[in-house]
Amino acid sequence: MSNNMPRPGRSLQLLPGPTPVPERITAAMSRDIIDHRGPVFQELGLKVLREIKPVFGTSKPVLIFASSGTGAWEAAIVNTLSPGDRVLTVDGGHFASMWTGMARDFGLVPDVIPTDWRTGPDPDKIAAHLEQDKAHAIKAVFVVHNETSTGVRCSIAKIREAIDAVGHPALLMVDAVSSLAAMDYRHDEWGVDVTVSGSQKGMMMPPGLAFTAVSERALAASETAKMPRYYWSWAKMQAQNKEGYFPFTPATGLIYGLAESIAMLNEEGFENVYARHERLAEAVRRAVRTWGLEVWCRDPEAYSPAVTTVGMPEGFDAVEFRRLVYDRFDVSLAMGLSKLSGKVFRIGHLGFVNDVAILGGLTAIERALAVAKVPHNTGGVAAAMDYLG
Ligand SMILES: *Cc1c(COP(=O)(O)O)cnc(C)c1O
Repeated sequence: MSNNMPRPGRSLQLLPGPTPVPERITAAMSRDIIDHRGPVFQELGLKVLREIKPVFGTSKPVLIFASSGTGAWEAAIVNTLSPGDRVLTVDGGHFASMWTGMARDFGLVPDVIPTDWRTGPDPDKIAAHLEQDKAHAIKAVFVVHNETSTGVRCSIAKIREAIDAVGHPALLMVDAVSSLAAMDYRHDEWGVDVTVSGSQKGMMMPPGLAFTAVSERALAASETAKMPRYYWSWAKMQAQNKEGYFPFTPATGLIYGLAESIAMLNEEGFENVYARHERLAEAVRRAVRTWGLEVWCRDPEAYSPAVTTVGMPEGFDAVEFRRLVYDRFDVSLAMGLSKLSGKVFRIGHLGFVNDVAILGGLTAIERALAVAKVPHNTGGVAAAMDYLG
């Protein structure tokens, strides 16, 4: 089917971001653009700044920038570090490698722990690496909580334990872009110094907001760090946030959407939100295994509740398969990123999705496997249905 043919019916996007936006959020955003220095905005600002804290599991301020998630990472780097600082990163996948690249571009010196891109950061390796750094030259450890390219989630609590076990003072900085509001997250309890996230994944919003939770230690670091910053300055942001305002024009429409997103999450209850993600993820994995395809993540403990990365059998190109699923069935799957391009496709089960959305997507995949003559067993959709009950 050519791309400009009419496509009756709704298309289905099973992406780990951007995720489907509930009508309630779309409606909440379609308001008049209000005066961002006036009393109506002030009330809204104070409300979202207060209500977003429990989403991160923090009692400290959460900062909201108008940007994609990557902006919050840039803010984390420029607020806490100085050129020439060493940092420790774990090359767990595409997103982790992006942060390492960003660190280099800012003149930081990353030590990189490699992985096979099928398992998560190993806390023991992090501890062993930090233990050698007797001079405490390493100023921060960067980890991705849920590596969206590989479908691998790691334990932030265990990484914190490993850092503490060797008594290393490095800041722990966590990318929770695809995990926030999809799986358990505890910024304070896990001793995270900086957590970054974005609006278009578990928060069920359009792209455009980035969030940052910050510890006392990270704030203290921001007072002496020498990296230049202006738009991303936490200090400028915090000074205005105290009154519910922002230093620069906030994305007022998205902030209305954020208030609605938080309301919806609270109504469902975070435990239920997390259980829903786990349940849909398990249904997807059962389908994948029934087909005889490979769940890319090697460690069952680390299976992502947000996205399943699926290995494409030898001799078949995942890029073409993804295109077929889109062209024939109007279902968008996510592609393999950087070195996984062509080798895997990814099924997002993140955000505002339900049983029938997942079953619809799995049906498209099962039919496409037949069309593309990929050797497989049928019955994947049935296995998912059985599990969902
Ligand atoms: C989506 C994603 C990002 C990138 O966020 P942008 O909003 O595209 O800047 C970073 N890290 C992870 C783990 C992601 O899933």
